[in-house]
Amino acid sequence: MPNLSEIEILAKRNPDIPFEVIVKEDILRCGISWSPEALAIAAEYKNKSYFIFSFDMAPISSLENKENIKAPEEIRLVGGQYNFLPVVVSVRLNPDSPYRVESDENSLVLKLAGDAVSRVELQKTPDYYRKTLSSGRPISEIAPSIEWGYLLYLTAFRLCQYPTAGEGCLYCDINENYRQQKNSGRPYSPVKSVEEVVEALDIIASVDGDSKAYTVTGGSIAETLDGKSEIDFYVRYPEAIERRLPGRWISKAAIQALTKDDVKKLKDAGVQIYHPNFEIWDARLFETYCPGKARRVGRDEWIRRILDAADVFGTENVIPNFVAGVEMAPPAGFGSVDAATASTAEGLDFFMSRGISPRFTTWCPEPLSALGKERRGAPLEYYIRLLRVYRDTRAKYKLPAPRGYGEPGLGRAVFSVSSFMDTV
Ligand code: SF4
Repeated sequence: MPNLSEIEILAKRNPDIPFEVIVKEDILRCGISWSPEALAIAAEYKNKSYFIFSFDMAPISSLENKENIKAPEEIRLVGGQYNFLPVVVSVRLNPDSPYRVESDENSLVLKLAGDAVSRVELQKTPDYYRKTLSSGRPISEIAPSIEWGYLLYLTAFRLCQYPTAGEGCLYCDINENYRQQKNSGRPYSPVKSVEEVVEALDIIASVDGDSKAYTVTGGSIAETLDGKSEIDFYVRYPEAIERRLPGRWISKAAIQALTKDDVKKLKDAGVQIYHPNFEIWDARLFETYCPGKARRVGRDEWIRRILDAADVFGTENVIPNFVAGVEMAPPAGFGSVDAATASTAEGLDFFMSRGISPRFTTWCPEPLSALGKERRGAPLEYYIRLLRVYRDTRAKYKLPAPRGYGEPGLGRAVFSVSSFMDTV
C-alpha cells in the first residue's frame, strides 16, 4: 500500500504524467475509504448507483457504515498542497484503503495514509434523480449518470449469460453484484423495459442540461433473452430513443463484437459510437480470462469484427475497451510491468495504426469476481507506463481525441474510471 512520499518519488521520476493523474490511478487501483463524518456529507450529494458492476473492492456485507448507499458516484480532486487541476475519480469502496476522504469543518479532504493530498468536491444530485416513473420506479435506477453527469448509463440487461453458463470473464462481478444489490434492497430488475427507458429519458430531456451522451449496454446474450437474439434485444433501445428524441444525445452502444450485418442494425437504429470491448490483448490471457468470448466468438473473429465495425461506423466511432491491469492478475497474468505494457502496447499499435482508438477502464479487483478475491490490482508503475504508451501511440498515428467523452485534457476531462481522457 502506498504512502505520499512514494507517490512523490514516482511523480518526480515521471514528470510527463501529471501528479493528479498518478493519484487518480492509484485511487482507482486501491479503492477509497470514508470517515463517518465525510460519509454523512457525501450522502447529501449524488450517490453511487451501481450502474453495472459493483466497482467496489469490498462486498456490501462488509461495509459497516452503509457506504454503499451513502458514498458518491464520483469525487473531484482539486487544489490542495499540489494545486491539483480538477480530476474526476470513480468511487470504488474499500474500507482498508490508505486513501481516505475526511471532513475538515464543512469541506472534504483527500488523505493518503493520514497526509492531506487535495480538496474533494462532490456532484450535486441531479433534479431528475428525485423523480419517479409512472410505475413508481426511481429514474436514478433506470438512467443513472456518470462522468460528472455527462453520460447516461442504460444497463438494459443487468445480468450476463456467460457466468450463468460457467464462462464468465474472470474479472467481472456482474451477476454477483446483481445478487448483492437485490439482497440489500436496491430496486434492481434484470431487464429494463424499452418503455421505461424512453419514459426516463423523456423526463431527463426536459429538465437536464448536463448529459450529452448515453450508452446502451448490459451483459452478453449468448443464447436468447425474451426470445430475442443479442442484437434484436439491444437494438430496440436506441431505436426507440432516437425515434422519440432524435439526436438529443450522442448515442453509444457497448455490446460484444457483433457480425457486420448486426452492426449495421445498430447503425441504422441511430447509434453513433460502438464499443465492442476487447478487454485483454494477449491471446493466451484472452482465452483464459474471457472464456465465454473466446469460445463463442474467438479472439481472431473478435478482431475481425472490430475492423468490420469500423467499415460501418467509421474508425473514429469504434472504441473497444481494455480492462487495464488485468493482464497482470495472477495466476496466469504477466509477472512484470515490462511484459504487461509491451503486450498492451502491441494491441494499441494494432488498432491505432488502423485509425481505431481503444480506451481503458482501470481494473477494479472486485472480491466477488474470480480474479479479485485477493483485492490486489496491478502496480501503479504499470498505469503510468500504460498512459504514456497510449498517449505516444495516439500521437504517432495523429489520432483525434476520442468522441463521446466530453472535453479532453487535464482539468477538463470527466471520464472517471481511468485517466486516458485526462492525458489526451
Ligand atoms: S461478457 Fe464478460 S465482462 Fe461482459 S458482462 Fe459478461 S462476464 Fe462481464
